[in-house]
Amino acid sequence: MIIVLKRHASETDIATVSDLVCSMRYQPRIIRGVEQTVIACIGDELSNRSLEALRNLPAVESVFPVQKKFKLVSREYHPADTVVNVNGTLIGGGNMVVIAGPCAIESYDQFRAAVQDLTRCGVKIIRAMPFKPRTSPYDFQGLKLDGIKIMRDIKTEFDVSLVAEVPGPAQIEMMRDVTDMFQIGARNAQNYDLLEHLARVGKPVLLKRGMASTVEEWLTAAEYLVVNGCPQVVLCERGLRSFDKVTRNLLDVGAVAAAKQLCHLPILVDPSHAAGTRRLVPALSRAGLAAGADGIIVEAHPDPVNAYSDASQQLESSKFADFLSDLAPWIELARQQRTRDAS
Ligand code: PEP
Ligand code: MN
Repeated sequence: MIIVLKRHASETDIATVSDLVCSMRYQPRIIRGVEQTVIACIGDELSNRSLEALRNLPAVESVFPVQKKFKLVSREYHPADTVVNVNGTLIGGGNMVVIAGPCAIESYDQFRAAVQDLTRCGVKIIRAMPFKPRTSPYDFQGLKLDGIKIMRDIKTEFDVSLVAEVPGPAQIEMMRDVTDMFQIGARNAQNYDLLEHLARVGKPVLLKRGMASTVEEWLTAAEYLVVNGCPQVVLCERGLRSFDKVTRNLLDVGAVAAAKQLCHLPILVDPSHAAGTRRLVPALSRAGLAAGADGIIVEAHPDPVNAYSDASQQLESSKFADFLSDLAPWIELARQQRTRDAS
């Protein structure tokens, strides 16, 4: 940490601050400038107490942390791309993925039709959402246990991998056998208790960015998973809360590019929840891939007009092949770029 002292700090002030720094197990190095004195404090900011409390001392102008709050997920610590293996499907390090499926499991027939359409196009990982954490308690909340049973039947019939959002620690166990990758939704992006519980399950996790999370908060949430025993984490940018309702959320492609440089985990973009409308999904998919994403997770439904949730943004699953063939050249370009970056 760096402590900047006020302009007229006396020798006594410098000694007082240095003594406090020593008592907090950092080594102070005093740098006397022309007008101001700076104290560089050497020590591990992650294991030692933060020196930020010293900001309140009368002689201190400001305190700056030097170390990032995330370590295990950082490129500095682990330069090579992490490749996440979801039941045999690889994501990251030049392995591109398209995950698709309806917003929610609504019935056996609806989910089966979606999975049939999507697996025919080569989709290997399906969105399977038995729980729908919704902003309003009056909106469709998912089929819950009945949805998990449908997941089990469909997984047996189609031999696909399923990614499912887990709403809280209490639901982990009931979903465990049928879920190949757990999703942490945007509303749970900083639910540290859930992150800690999920980290111990031994399955890959798709961690969405919260709708108002900074990149640092997003990566630090991923750090919770990794430090608690889950190295197989995929990040997902799904758009931020913004002032402009022309899109449902503001797809932050800059954050995708920045997170790619800061962190070795694969990143997906969710164009559906960012767009809010199906006609923008292809463009946002391309934007995400161009910014550095290792793939997309997109909503597709056999009858989107009558969907119980997110009707306006879901693609028609029977037309998914057209969407994919338009996107194919962009995926291929991204794959080549990611492969070059990885080597
Ligand atoms: C979802 O993917 O089903 C979902 C609810 O998205 P988000 O958490 O990003 O809102
Ligand atoms: Mn949705």
